[in-house]
Amino acid sequence: MAFDPLDTVHILSERLDAELRDAHPSRIIEAAAEQFGERLALVSSFGAESAVLLHLAARVNPAMPVLFLDTGMLFAQTLDYRKLLAGRLGLTQVHDLRPRFEDLATGDPDADLWRTDTDGCCHIRKVAPLDRALGGFDAWLTGRKRFHGGDRLRLPVVEKAGAQIKLNPLANWNKADLDAYIAEHDLPPHPLVGAGFPSVGCWPCTSQAADGDDVRAGRWAGSEKTECGIHVARAPGAAPFVGGDL
Ligand code: SF4
Repeated sequence: MAFDPLDTVHILSERLDAELRDAHPSRIIEAAAEQFGERLALVSSFGAESAVLLHLAARVNPAMPVLFLDTGMLFAQTLDYRKLLAGRLGLTQVHDLRPRFEDLATGDPDADLWRTDTDGCCHIRKVAPLDRALGGFDAWLTGRKRFHGGDRLRLPVVEKAGAQIKLNPLANWNKADLDAYIAEHDLPPHPLVGAGFPSVGCWPCTSQAADGDDVRAGRWAGSEKTECGIHVARAPGAAPFVGGDL
């Protein structure tokens, strides 16, 4: 019978999830670093809660590659925060992933695709750049949590994502856990959190949330969309990342 590398990924993800599903986030990141070494990346939006995962990862390996999607539509405060946090935490490998010029020229020449086709806009500005970059890795860390609701309610700690493994070290943590960690380590807040943005993405698709709303209520408010599309399984054999904006 032919050997299927996806079976190996599946078996490994199941084993890691069984081992790590109740582990502290620090242990999950350590185990991922031990298992995948330089083939492990962290994907961060440098958004409202990002400081926690970045701080945890920096304590394990400050040279871990951090992939940041600079969509061209971010708030200036997020770009400032990315610089501040990277410096404060000593992260030495933060890579700004940008959409390809030719994709923008053909698909979104007036930078207004978000008005009519948010999925298409997210594909050009987030999904495609991340897909290119992740080709160079076997596994990646995300900052998703179950308490964010929606599809995230069933979030495992370790999951298979196409030919890769995705780890969600903060899946089990709630808002109180995050707040306690931020206070304990005196982590700087995203500048927009105090202005009523509990979740921060691109400026056209992020709005303030009312007290009592879900954390992500201000993302694509008024539409059915709840995710940008980067958390879908990558196609096996997706083109490897070969340099450039990473
Ligand atoms: S979040 Fe909005 S502006 Fe950002 S890439 Fe998606 S649709 Fe475009």
